[in-house]
Amino acid sequence: MSSSETHRIAVLAGDGIGPEVMREAVNVLDRISTRFGVTFRYDEQLVGGIAIDEKGTALPPETVAACEAAGAILFGSVGGPKWEKLPPAQQPERAALLPLRKHFGLFANLRPGVCFPSLTQASPVKQELIEGGFDVLCVRELTGDVYFGEPKFLGERDGERVAIDTMIYKQGEVERIAHVAFGAAMGRRRKVTSIDKANVLQNGVLWRETVNAVAKEYPDVTVEHLYVDNAAMQLIRRPREFDVVLAPNLFGDILSDEMAMIAGSLGMLSSASLGRAKDSGLHFGLYEPSGGTAPDIAGKGIANPIAQILSAAMMLRYSFGMEEAANAIDAAVKGVIDDGLRTGDIFSGSPGTTLVNTAAMGDAIAARL
Ligand code: NAD
Repeated sequence: MSSSETHRIAVLAGDGIGPEVMREAVNVLDRISTRFGVTFRYDEQLVGGIAIDEKGTALPPETVAACEAAGAILFGSVGGPKWEKLPPAQQPERAALLPLRKHFGLFANLRPGVCFPSLTQASPVKQELIEGGFDVLCVRELTGDVYFGEPKFLGERDGERVAIDTMIYKQGEVERIAHVAFGAAMGRRRKVTSIDKANVLQNGVLWRETVNAVAKEYPDVTVEHLYVDNAAMQLIRRPREFDVVLAPNLFGDILSDEMAMIAGSLGMLSSASLGRAKDSGLHFGLYEPSGGTAPDIAGKGIANPIAQILSAAMMLRYSFGMEEAANAIDAAVKGVIDDGLRTGDIFSGSPGTTLVNTAAMGDAIAARL
């Protein structure tokens, strides 16, 4: 990697614990910059509740402009009790995240469900099922399906209240998300489990046929198809056998939460929302922790920064093509967990573990790089 390489990052820390954990992610990126000889230019902008307070809107135009000029968006989280009484359309999450997803065409949501071997007690799943840890990546289609299909209707017909949502997928939409899943599997354990309901839904038939066609381009990747109801069971029964789970929007919404729950600790889980691939195969993306602003612990300096730091690692992998640096961050996180460092959310007092705050956890991860 040449030392002249510069990556622009729009840094949108947001509300609550957002700025606290973002500080640690930037700290880690600074270490990566030194070690790998790249330059990161951070453009910090307001988003969410703090942007409403200071600029009158959750997504100010200068924030969007900074995102447009950047190679990726590193996002904290937005919202909190202070803004909960605003009309729904003005609330931080709806007024900031959804427009960003739409504006940048972020069609692929990647959520790793990772449980380190030393943290399996945080999972509600039977210990013998996750012994040795597990590592699943959910690749969820984010801009199609029954959430966006037209017509939508709620009203009266023939003297009765009726609701209509339309489940619709175009072949091209399935193809592009399948490529993301197979591409990700190539860098992992080379298995894709595709989710549908092809026994009942025409959408499922198109989904399955299209995934099988895309699979031919990735002969090294094994494909398995599961109906969504069976997948919900198998994830609990044999979580370690999954690698990449490829799902349409609705089913992925549900299954990715199930995977997060199996992993146990929200403060550990990152996510990426990717736009269309460029010629380089890299994507513009928005990278954020799976959790929210954690108002109950905000301002105390005790939040777990790992989800934000792992989100930065995903950014390096998917937007900047820095696989080695991303792996180094993943390894550093695993290293500090193996060393016994724990923030409050993952601390159980077991022997050999030490309770640390946000800054100490961030420093320990940076020091391992
Ligand atoms: P939350 O994820 O903020 O908190 C749920 C629980 O998990 C809390 O006990 C919290 O302390 C804990 N937690 C979450 N992240 C943690 C971390 N990094 N370290 C330690 N503990 C952590 O969910 P919530 O309480 O339902 O929502 C709080 C606010 O966040 C709401 O305003 C909600 O709208 C917003 N929210 C924003 C996003 C986003 O910006 N993408 C996502 C979810 C929720």
